Order: sequence, then structure tokens, then C-alpha cells
Amino acid sequence: MSTRFEEFYRRSIEDREGFWAEQAQLIEWHRPPQQICDYGHPPFARWFAGGLTNLCHNAVDRHLAARAGQNALIAISTETGAEKAYSYQELHAEVNRMAAVLKALGVQKGDRVQIYMPMIAEAAFAMLACARLGAIHSVVFGGFASGALASRIDDAQPKVIVSADAGSRGGRVVAYKPLLDEALQLSAHRPAAVLIVDRGLAPAPMRAGRDHDWASLRALHMDAQVPCEWVDATHPSYTLYTSGTTGRPKGVQRDTGGYTVALAASMKHIFAAQPGQTFFCTSDIGWVVGHSYIIYAPLINGMATVLYEGLPVRPDAGTWWGIVEKYRVTHMFSAPTAIRVLKKHDAAHLHRHDLSSLKALWLAGEPLDEPTAAWISDAIGKPIIDNYWQTETGWPILTLCNGVEKQDTRFGSPGKAVYGYNVKLIDDATGQELTQANQKGVLAIEGPLPPGCMQTVWRDDERFVNTYWKSIPGRLIYSTFDWGIRDEDGYYFILGRTDDVINVAGHRLGTREIEESIAAHAQIAEVAVVGVADSLKGQVALAFAVVRDAALTDDAPARQALEAEIMKLVDSRLGAVARPSRVLFVAALPKTRSGKLLRRALQAVAEGRDPGDLSTMEDPAALAQVQQQL
Ligand code: ATP
Ligand code: MG
Repeated sequence: MSTRFEEFYRRSIEDREGFWAEQAQLIEWHRPPQQICDYGHPPFARWFAGGLTNLCHNAVDRHLAARAGQNALIAISTETGAEKAYSYQELHAEVNRMAAVLKALGVQKGDRVQIYMPMIAEAAFAMLACARLGAIHSVVFGGFASGALASRIDDAQPKVIVSADAGSRGGRVVAYKPLLDEALQLSAHRPAAVLIVDRGLAPAPMRAGRDHDWASLRALHMDAQVPCEWVDATHPSYTLYTSGTTGRPKGVQRDTGGYTVALAASMKHIFAAQPGQTFFCTSDIGWVVGHSYIIYAPLINGMATVLYEGLPVRPDAGTWWGIVEKYRVTHMFSAPTAIRVLKKHDAAHLHRHDLSSLKALWLAGEPLDEPTAAWISDAIGKPIIDNYWQTETGWPILTLCNGVEKQDTRFGSPGKAVYGYNVKLIDDATGQELTQANQKGVLAIEGPLPPGCMQTVWRDDERFVNTYWKSIPGRLIYSTFDWGIRDEDGYYFILGRTDDVINVAGHRLGTREIEESIAAHAQIAEVAVVGVADSLKGQVALAFAVVRDAALTDDAPARQALEAEIMKLVDSRLGAVARPSRVLFVAALPKTRSGKLLRRALQAVAEGRDPGDLSTMEDPAALAQVQQQL
């Protein structure tokens, strides 16, 4: 007998149109869709074509009737001490003011608006105002250097750029305006206007005729009423870049109707979330998790959402958990990398707070190793739910759908294939589907991708088709470029990126498997394994480890002893074939600004090659240190 979830999943694949027609009822349409899914030109899917709707209407206006006075957006900065809760009515008023200002600056339906902002309420107003006008926003992670910003300006060609004088990180003011001015020197494109939110943190010299002050313009539009622009479901809502972990970032283009429906459905079936509850996602609006689960999904679902500027450990490791207590947060969403930061601190900081409102903690973005999952699960006493997805998909591909049916967590697995995603494991050499349990293959998705996923690469249909749909011989199928395995119960395990598979003397090993076994050593805080070319074995594994107590590796004999212990651990867990040729100890690992391990840069440096595009790298010192160790 099949379970409730299995039936739900099967229907989403076998009766695609019926299933998604039903989900489409979760949002409001100005005119209902004329067609549920137009897949006449694969791999381009047009969801809910002919339907007219508006993302801002569904996120804000729609809730005014029933919850005007309820909290909608709670903006908290532990950097500046600012804290303000906006009700739906207040959010509506602010979004109307922002929309009126953007309109006055010339923004119309289809125009791009670049948003280069810290985590402040005005960033949310700007995103929602764009959606209101049918303009396409393109958020660039705040604090990206001018070069990365300039290339994104040239790609998006925005009519207006919305920015701020500065952000703040760990008590240090990061001036944005000079970076933006520099980027505008570097870029070929010239926006018609720049709108600056002046927080009074850093000097922001304004260029007459181009730069405008938000507070002054807002004051002219206090009572503005800007109607929502009804757009076709397939009208682009935004573009957003991938993290750049594997190379040059890709500009993902997302639609309007499909995305709104997908997010509404995810709140119901994945998060089991109710209107009136409070969602706290600790990501940044510069990433897809921030777009979907700080801004749009909680608001579409009539919830309050927390927008947080600050670190998880400042003033201390209890800061997030104090927010959970104060605002009775029900759903929390974070990333393994943030939990690893917390893990270096005393769990007592978490225990100080009343977390009784919290139902569960969702984590996404990179592999969730078992020690990290176990630590946070112990520390907060709540279910920890891993979920696997990509900028490209906009919402989870693999997780537990507890809103459909209670499912058990299996440590090390993000869960099962989510409804709507026809997930397959493919043998990358033959293109054959792997149907047996426990076979390793490329995680792929049979088209059409479900609603909410990318429509194309911005202004580059060819790159969309060639990058994602042509990598597997002999068939048109979407590749995630992740490598995985499925157990007999349908739980998937991600083994690493497809280009992270190491081939040692003919044995195919996932870097993740080796990392997991090394992370089991009590002294290891974090580890990265890469495959390095070897004339004898083809490839060998090389490990870079961060130890919990740096003093432990201060002298050569201690380092060697720890290295030997780690090798023995890998031998016993995976076998000698997986044993790294060396374990090098470093103070930090190179990461993207979104906190992902830059394994390809490690590998390139280890092989003495050029590390390639590093525009999204967080801390160049980490890579320099690795270079020294080699
Ligand atoms: P780029 O595509 O530019 O190289 P990126 O893949 O890191 O960068 P994102 O879209 O931010 O860009 O990240 C998606 C990827 O992150 C996934 O393909 C997967 O490799 C990894 N990932 C996300 N969530 C999980 C998870 N829960 N478990 C394991 N890996 C995950
Ligand atoms: Mg990717």
C-alpha cells in the first residue's frame, strides 16, 4: 500500500495539469490561467500562461482585508540596534511609496531595477515595489566588490539602481556608495537614476542629476496609491545569479505566476505553515533562499517574516534565539555554514531562550554533515530538516513534505523527491536511468521543470539549453550537476558535485563521503577534500582541515600525529582507497560570499592551475594560506 505522500507525489508527476491547476488556487488571479503547462518547446516551460496576476498583490494587498494590523515584516539589525515591525497595512503603504518613487524615476513594466542593499526594510520595499510595477528586480548581494557589481549592471542594464550609504557587518561599517560609484565607472551601462537610502552610517556623496535621496522622495509620496500591474504569469519577476561555486555565475530568470504558486504550495506542503505564524530565515536577500523564504513565500502565506542584519554570534551566540523567543518564531530556516559558526560557541547561549514556539529548523545550501545536525538538534531540541535545491529551482527539490504527511529525518539525507520534480539518477557515461536502490548517479530532473523554476538564463536561451539540458548523452534532461544515491525507501543522499567525483585507480569516490568520515574526528571543525591529478593513480584525494583547537597543530610532530589519526579514520570508515594522500591544516577554507566551499579553487591551486573566476569569494586570505601550505 502506498503512503499518502507517495500518492501525492505520483499525482504531481502523472497528472501534472490537474495537480498544478489545484495548487494554482492557492493564489489570487486577476484572470485565471488559460493553460496550465505549455511544454510545446522543450525545455522551455510556460506555466499558467494567459493567467494574469501580480506577485506584490499576492504578498501584500491580498492580506489587507483579513490581517491589516498583523505583523508582516520585522526588520532587526543587531548592527545598528534598529528594530521595527511593519504591519501589513504599513508594509502596503511603504511599498506604495517606493513604487511611486521608482515610477517617478521612470521605471515601467519590464524595466530592470538593480538592488544593491544591506539587510534593511527598504530592500524588501524595493523588491515588492518592482513586483508591483511589473519591473524585473535583480538583487546583487550587498558588499560584493565593484567588479562583480559592474558585470551584473552590464548584464541587467537597469533603469534604476537602488542602494544605500552602507551596510554593517560584525560592527564594521561597509560603505556601499563608493563601491557602487566605482562599479558605475567600470560598467558600460548607465542607469537613468540611482536611489540611495541614507542610514547615516557612512558619507554618500551624491551626483547631481543621477543620484536621489530616498527619504526626500518618499516624503513627496506619502499617500501614494500605485495599482498593481497585472502581468502574464510568464512575465519575468526577477533575475538572480547563482553562487559561482563551480565557475562564472549564471543569471537565472524567474517567472511570476509559476513562482507565486510554487512558493504558496511549498508553505503548505513542505513547511506546513499557517497564516499568522512567524518565519525567520537567516539568509540574505542577495541569495535565492532570501528571495523565496525571507521575502516572498512567508508574505504570500500571510505570515510575519523576520529580516535580520547581523551575525549569528554578535553580541553572542544567543542572538537569533532571542529573536525566536521575542517574536514567537514558528519556522526557522538557515544554512549549515551558519550552524558551524554557532557550534564553535557554548550551547548554553541557545538554552537561555524559550524556543517553545519553534516547530522546526530547516537548513539548506550545502551538505549537512551529521555532527553539525546532531549538535544543533541537541542544542535546540527541535526537528532539523535538511533541504536540497538550487538558485535555478527557487524552491526545494529534495526534502520532507511534512505538510502532506509526517516523514522521518534520515541523517545525511535531505529527504525524498519533492512533488512536481521528476527526479532521476542517471549514469553519466551511458545516459541510462539508474532504477535500483543504492546506485550512484547524476541527479537529474525530467522536463518540464515544475512551476517556480528558472525560465531561462537571462538573455541567453542558448546557454540555458546547452548548460543544463545537454550534459547527459543522448537525452534532453536537466542536470543538477550534483551526484547522488537513493536508498530503498526513496531517500536521496548528495555525494558532491559531479566534477568533485574523484577517480582513484578506477574507484569513483565522492568528496563528500571522504569529508564526512574526516569530520567524524572530534578535533575537526571543518574539512574540504579535493581530487588532485596524480601520474600513478589518476587522481588522489587531498584534504584541507580546520581544527577546533589551533594550538593542536602548532608543531610538526602534533600535526603529523593528527594527520595519521585522520588517515586511519578514513581507512576504517571507507577503506584505504579513499585515504587522502595528505591532510593539510589551515585556519580557514576559501568560501563564496554565500558560505559555500570553493572546492574548485582549492583543487586548481593544489594542481598549480589558475583558480579562475573568484569574484564571489569571501576571503582571499584563506586561499593564500592554502597556497602556502602546499
Ligand atoms: P554555481 O552554480 O554558480 O556554481 P552554486 O551551485 O553553489 O554555484 P547555488 O544555486 O547557490 O549555486 O547552490 C546550489 C547547490 O548547492 C546545489 O547544486 C548543491 O550542490 C548545493 N546544495 C544546496 N543545498 C544542499 C543540501 N541540502 N545538501 C547538499 N548540497 C546542497
Ligand atoms: Mg549550481
